[in-house]
Amino acid sequence: MKVIVLGAGLLGVTSAYFLRQQGHDVTVIDRQASPAAETSFANGGQISVSHAEPWANPSAPLKVLKWLGKEDAPLLFRIRADMRQWLWGLQFMRECTPARTRHNIEQIVRLGTYSRDMLQALRRDTGIEYDQRTQGILHFYTSQKEFEGAEGPAAQMRELGCDRRVISADEAVALEPALRHIRPQLAGATYTAEDESGDANRFARELVARCRSDGVQFLMSHTVTALREAGGSIDHVEATDAEGRFQRVRGDAYVLAMGSLSPLLASPLGIRLPIYPAKGYSVTMPVKDASMAHQVSLTDDEYKLVFSRLGDRLRIAGTAELNGYDRDLNRVRCEAIVRRTEELFPGAGDSEQAQFWTGLRPATPSNVPIIGRSKISNLFLNTGHGTLGWTHACGSGKSIARIVSGLAPEVDFAFTGLLARAGAFKGVELPA
Ligand SMILES: Cc1cc2nc3c(=O)[nH]c(=O)nc-3n(C[C@H](O)[C@H](O)[C@H](O)COP(=O)(O)OP(=O)(O)OC[C@H]3O[C@@H](n4cnc5c(N)ncnc54)[C@H](O)[C@@H]3O)c2cc1C
Repeated sequence: MKVIVLGAGLLGVTSAYFLRQQGHDVTVIDRQASPAAETSFANGGQISVSHAEPWANPSAPLKVLKWLGKEDAPLLFRIRADMRQWLWGLQFMRECTPARTRHNIEQIVRLGTYSRDMLQALRRDTGIEYDQRTQGILHFYTSQKEFEGAEGPAAQMRELGCDRRVISADEAVALEPALRHIRPQLAGATYTAEDESGDANRFARELVARCRSDGVQFLMSHTVTALREAGGSIDHVEATDAEGRFQRVRGDAYVLAMGSLSPLLASPLGIRLPIYPAKGYSVTMPVKDASMAHQVSLTDDEYKLVFSRLGDRLRIAGTAELNGYDRDLNRVRCEAIVRRTEELFPGAGDSEQAQFWTGLRPATPSNVPIIGRSKISNLFLNTGHGTLGWTHACGSGKSIARIVSGLAPEVDFAFTGLLARAGAFKGVELPA
């Protein structure tokens, strides 16, 4: 089968790899000159099955209200005259009940565990290197109340097979001595030994090289302008290249993996994807004093920041701003991240050489991605991965490749469009 993958971010590239493994003739189209150049460019680097609590949880509504208008808030709604933003906000509130939160955590952990296994298998099969580290993820708390609140979700994750252990502040410092500087402020931590980290952009570029040598075609610098339907299926996509030349690209099946831009191409087909861009920031700086720098990938609960060690670089990422497709760098937010890094690991990184970046997470209200068949028979979706697109990339890519190939996915997850298939895992229908 000829399969056209739309988007060469983490989700498009992993879809292409697994589709090729299934024996398909695969072409990937992306508007950028190189792969993983948008949201998959400089993320937090965590493969964090343990990071399964969605933003939408019972404590979120109060926090969001408290943070309204606060420039350095971890999660900031900038209220706009934008119907999509308002609808998304309402759906987000609906996901904040305890029952919905539990359900969403379950989905996220199941896909995450499977995905981490698929990443490890891919690494064994291809031998690719991407500054990966397999030293786990340590989530530390500076508030006693938040630390106590972590026990419930951690216990639920353990029940689901993700071994997120609650540990004391001293155990946290023993695991990551660079935390010694803030030992007096530490209330406690959780540690998930099986979690990992690595440079997602490097991973995607290495995987593209592998795909190319296996015969996958990449039409880079091609902007997709429309998906054209005829008789209930996609007939072709329309694209323009860097010189503005128009092209029609035809396939038997199409996988939509355009991150936060996916809803814009799906909506003319009557497919409303509940995805809204959630802008995040990252800072990358060279290690200056290795004795002060962390090795283990960390999550700072108070500031909602993640810290990964990528070779001789420190990557710090986080915060979310719901403000449409704006990607401007806000100095207040950049400085807040550098200040917090200095506070935690004084002198560890060279902040003079810090590189700042923003990316738009393709966020669904529940943080559960949309993977599966759409209401158009040959259009498949692999999008809406929000805060966890790196963690979920390999599991989502392999699952969509199996679904396109008519095979049942290997993980019990709410895939779209599979509800009617007897014997398949339960799926959900997209809102009309
Ligand atoms: C600050 C930050 C930190 C993060 N940290 C982590 C983390 O630690 N762990 C984790 O698991 N996840 C993390 N994430 C989330 C993760 O990075 C994303 O979920 C993931 O990158 C989304 O990948 P994607 O392929 O869906 O989207 P993208 O990477 O945006 O890919 C979409 C592709 O579609 C292309 N495209 C769009 N429109 C068109 C068009 N019209 N024509 C042609 N091409 C088009 C784009 O060029 C792009 O290459 C983080 C995100 C951010 C912003």
